[in-house]
Amino acid sequence: MQTENFIAYLVVFLRFLRRCSLSESHYIMLDSEIFLPKEDQWVMNLCILLLKEEKKSKPELARKAEHEGWSVWSLQGGLETLTDSMVDHLCNNGAEIKYDTKITSIELQGKKARIKMESGEEIETEQLISAIPAISLAPLLKKSHPGVSKILQDIKCVTVGLANFEYAGKDLLQMDAFGFLVPSSQDLSVLGVVFDTCSFPQGDKTILTVMYGGHRYQPTTPIELEEICKFSLSKTLGINEEPHRKSVQILKDCIPQYTVGHNGRVNAIDEIISKESLPIIVTGASYKGVSVNDCVLNGIRSAENLLAR
Ligand SMILES: Cc1cc2nc3c(=O)[nH]c(=O)nc-3n(C[C@H](O)[C@H](O)[C@H](O)COP(=O)(O)OP(=O)(O)OC[C@H]3O[C@@H](n4cnc5c(N)ncnc54)[C@H](O)[C@@H]3O)c2cc1C
Repeated sequence: MQTENFIAYLVVFLRFLRRCSLSESHYIMLDSEIFLPKEDQWVMNLCILLLKEEKKSKPELARKAEHEGWSVWSLQGGLETLTDSMVDHLCNNGAEIKYDTKITSIELQGKKARIKMESGEEIETEQLISAIPAISLAPLLKKSHPGVSKILQDIKCVTVGLANFEYAGKDLLQMDAFGFLVPSSQDLSVLGVVFDTCSFPQGDKTILTVMYGGHRYQPTTPIELEEICKFSLSKTLGINEEPHRKSVQILKDCIPQYTVGHNGRVNAIDEIISKESLPIIVTGASYKGVSVNDCVLNGIRSAENLLAR
């Protein structure tokens, strides 16, 4: 095989690994076999072997999700069971967790980070992973690193109004779907509606989550919010009946909103930390993805980065 061909195939292979899911890349590669000249078949065999190895190294649950084509997941008992299990695991392995402890400043001095708490307590460490929102970290670093603080300050959070409505009967909706999102061009003030019980049935009931606000947030009260959400359900889904149970909340600055230039800001923060060997790693929803999946993945990457230092 010619060297250029080999490099081309290798590049394509690496792209597949990064861009497609395992099953997709496997499929595409098997499919493209017909285009390969006979003498190049060994590249294909090598790729398939590597894919099989990668498959073996995946956790059982990840393989199950991939095999069954999950698009969403949830946890019985709610998402808090995830953090509860993490707490159990950490505490059983000697970690100490401080609850209800507000950090008031972080000083980065050479190879050490000094963390000050509202209680007056201080901790000095050589390795600090910050998983609080960028907008909360910015003021803590203002004194010792105004440069990083200024960039962090530009990663804003937005407020979301949230209404959970539970109705009797499971046939309220005329379609079985995940839900819908509303583009800003539409004349509706809600962001979208999730049909919770379509993805995760809970007996003879229908549960809907209506989301309002984000960067389009207009100040409102919980009572007004409930009316807005009910009006939207009536207009879009024809639901006019009263829910049996409801929860309506305004969650202030609860989720980061990535604006134009976000990746540049995140790269700039990473670059400063790396160039100046600052004893801090930033992670969480403010940087490289807001979903729980993203937060888990980036948490793992942060721990790996720290170990590689
Ligand atoms: C309404 C809503 C619906 C969502 N739905 C989904 C969904 O369906 N699927 C999905 O994948 N994701 C969803 N998300 C996104 C996802 O839940 C969040 O982005 C993710 O949980 C954020 O995790 P985090 O640990 O980065 O931040 P957070 O959970 O916000 O944790 C940050 C923590 O830092 C603490 N903190 C802040 N400042 C300080 C300080 N000075 N000192 C000490 N502690 C401090 C805070 O108290 C908080 O506990 C949703 C988010 C919202 C708001």
